[in-house]
Amino acid sequence: MSKISVGILGATGMVGQQYITLLNNHPWFEVQFAAASPRSAGKKYKEAVAGRWQLSKTYAPHVGELIVEDANDVSRAVEAFKKGGCSFVFSALEMGKDETRALEEKYAAAGIPVISNASAHRWTPDVPVLIAEINPHHTDIIPMQKKARGWDRGFIAVKPNCSIQSYMKPIHALAQAGYPAERIIVTTMQAVSGAGYPGVPSLDMIDNIVPYIGGEEEKSEKEPLKIFGSIENGVIKNAEGIKISAHCNRVPVTDGHTACISLEFGAKKPSSLDEIKSIWKAYKGLPQEADFPTAPSQPIIYREEDNRPQPRKDRDADKAMAVVIGRLRPCNVFDIRFTALSHNTVRGAAGGGILNAELLKHKGYLS
Ligand code: NAP
Repeated sequence: MSKISVGILGATGMVGQQYITLLNNHPWFEVQFAAASPRSAGKKYKEAVAGRWQLSKTYAPHVGELIVEDANDVSRAVEAFKKGGCSFVFSALEMGKDETRALEEKYAAAGIPVISNASAHRWTPDVPVLIAEINPHHTDIIPMQKKARGWDRGFIAVKPNCSIQSYMKPIHALAQAGYPAERIIVTTMQAVSGAGYPGVPSLDMIDNIVPYIGGEEEKSEKEPLKIFGSIENGVIKNAEGIKISAHCNRVPVTDGHTACISLEFGAKKPSSLDEIKSIWKAYKGLPQEADFPTAPSQPIIYREEDNRPQPRKDRDADKAMAVVIGRLRPCNVFDIRFTALSHNTVRGAAGGGILNAELLKHKGYLS
């Protein structure tokens, strides 16, 4: 099978670098186009990232030789597409919200599908916010999106915020088993790589915790409602009946967002903590059933030790694509509490984006 050619917008950044390394030897996709800001445009990729490469793995030799394009110039991607070198793009741009929204729409209108990590389109009613295990059926909105906007080949699909990744699957697993959550209080401890590179100044971070991440609490409280929502009349309607209160903190950890969750069920409650653990351990979704290349074999890993999960020890579990949970216990105020962890630049960013692309290819939206 010949591979589908892929472009990365924001290829030089923290998330862009993850895309480049995770797509190295991918069985379905191959990076043939890289774009970033005008600061990097015109340089070879290896020159553009020299001195700011963040990962222990490196890029493929052919990627190092790619000339970085200006991501604002959509015509470059269209030209590459016509030569068979950019069938769709992953967007990992860090720009103003309005600018990003408009630029991603330009790519889609020009016939290039966009799978985005940016938050700009998460609240666009006909754009699906995908977690491949939870709401693969939301891809059904893509034909409606294309029709409403007059796009023939292009479309936009996005992934949610990195901070909610660790607890969405556990909550979904319980809801699927007949125990939907009604109220959740979550406190996150988020890694510095979540702020991109160079990110938070070191003097704000060493020996310190910053109890504020702009916009993060609002995203954490609202995005789950869209992910659990349903398609009605060409838009995604938010789920009702679940309330979330979030406290988001930046902590001096390089990678891996941790969350402490207290959860109250509706009228129907699991019979025991062991029942909950069994539900989590048995949880699987379409990525596992269809055996997508980037899917973790076990999307939720439960650790019995009292002192797990920990970012350094657990963030890389199953290709850094699994969510690791521990410390399930009764809650004195709500019903249960637990701790969850996921790798923010892999599962929460590039790996999650690639899994969404695998889902979209599986559903016939990418070729
Ligand atoms: P980053 O390290 O700051 O990288 C930003 C990228 O955007 C770079 O490639 C940069 O190019 C490019 N860029 C900046 N200004 C531009 C402009 N005016 N025109 C075109 N390109 C421009 O940021 P990041 O952490 O990778 O985040 C990328 C996106 O993913 C953001 O939307 C972020 O919210 C989202 N996200 C991040 C994480 C995470 O854990 N880091 C998780 C989920 C989602 P140059 O190198 O040329 O400046």
